[in-house]
Amino acid sequence: MTPTSSSLFTLALGLHDPWAVSDVAFDADAGQLDLQVSFQPGARFTCPSCGAEHQPVHDTLAREWRHLNFFQYQAYLQAKVPRVRCGACGKTTQVPVPWAREGSGFSLLMEALVVTLIKAMPVRQVAHLLAVSDQRLWRILDYYVDSARAQEDFSGVTTLGLDETAARRGHHYISLFHDLDAGRLLFACEGRNAEVVAQFADDLEAHGGCAENLTAACIDMSTSYRAGLAEHLPWVDVTFDEFHVIQLVNRAVDEVRRQETKTHPQLKRSRYLWLKDHQNWTTRQIRQYVDLKRLNLKTHRAFRLKEALRDIFHHAPDRETADPLLNQWYSWARRCRIEPIKQVAMSLKNHWEGILNAFDSKLTNGRVEGINAIIQAAKAKARGYGTTRHLITISYLVAGQLTHLPVSPFKLKGTSAVATGVQGV
Ligand SMILES: [Zn+2]
Repeated sequence: MTPTSSSLFTLALGLHDPWAVSDVAFDADAGQLDLQVSFQPGARFTCPSCGAEHQPVHDTLAREWRHLNFFQYQAYLQAKVPRVRCGACGKTTQVPVPWAREGSGFSLLMEALVVTLIKAMPVRQVAHLLAVSDQRLWRILDYYVDSARAQEDFSGVTTLGLDETAARRGHHYISLFHDLDAGRLLFACEGRNAEVVAQFADDLEAHGGCAENLTAACIDMSTSYRAGLAEHLPWVDVTFDEFHVIQLVNRAVDEVRRQETKTHPQLKRSRYLWLKDHQNWTTRQIRQYVDLKRLNLKTHRAFRLKEALRDIFHHAPDRETADPLLNQWYSWARRCRIEPIKQVAMSLKNHWEGILNAFDSKLTNGRVEGINAIIQAAKAKARGYGTTRHLITISYLVAGQLTHLPVSPFKLKGTSAVATGVQGV
């Protein structure tokens, strides 16, 4: 190729002195473009160990990096990377190159593309598209997510949402700690025992946050989260939100329906009728309800109790209004002679303060449920390699609002392209 193509690629790669493209080799049959990048003979480099400038090159080591495709062809950067023998500290050290981070076999722009694509599609698809193994992609993603998280600032966090999600089939769970004000995932870890709260508190402090600044937490009614908060963050007001309260009652309603289906087969295929908010019923469900209502079923009574509880959440403006209404509901539920409902009413009584807190704090994990839905959808990204660690990494990627991830290479302006990948926005 002519020198013109070398200077074109030097410009396109945004290379500066002493680096420039010195040779271009294109093999259409192999589907590959090789760009040889060289430093000017006699160039001197800063010692990476001590920072002493203008150190002479001791020797070089040939290396190669996968770069963004050239049209439909794979492109590689190749360079003899110098080691300097430093006159100041005496060490012999390999100098960093401006187009790649240390130890990576990809250019920064290629890594930025990888991160951008994984935000949008499963890792396995990205691997197929780029013809790179998914293990290598996970290493890139782990690196960028970890380093982006390390730069996150949690100093303003006061309000927590705490929830769990199944990592895979069986009993593998991860706990998710959210900043309810910002709607972002702060911390995720394996397990759902009380100790995860201590792990979160450590992580919060490691990111400039202050556990003493936390004032409120919205959680489900699992005893372990409650115990964890009581032990590690005892000053935090706990709220049990509408979503989890109704979820609990819904489980009881469903149990009643299942038992009653044995004697009333008409109840078959009515599960979602009873679980849904009646305002969201379809026409078919409204007709189904009208038919079933006439049968004077326990399921119907259980459903009415659930809807009455939902009404209190929707209409009671404050704690003072809610308290007597909830008490009335409780005595109705205790006298209803439907065992699962009596049980759930007792369970709610045990969580009374936290339920009442919802009317003061107005906290709801509704937003968290939205984030969890995103994470559930993102599980496909980790599919096939669905280790818990991968799911956590993906969760941070899609829900962590990380501000220090590399930007898409297609958003770049100017010619400093090679160095821009690590800087983020
Ligand atoms: Zn040195």
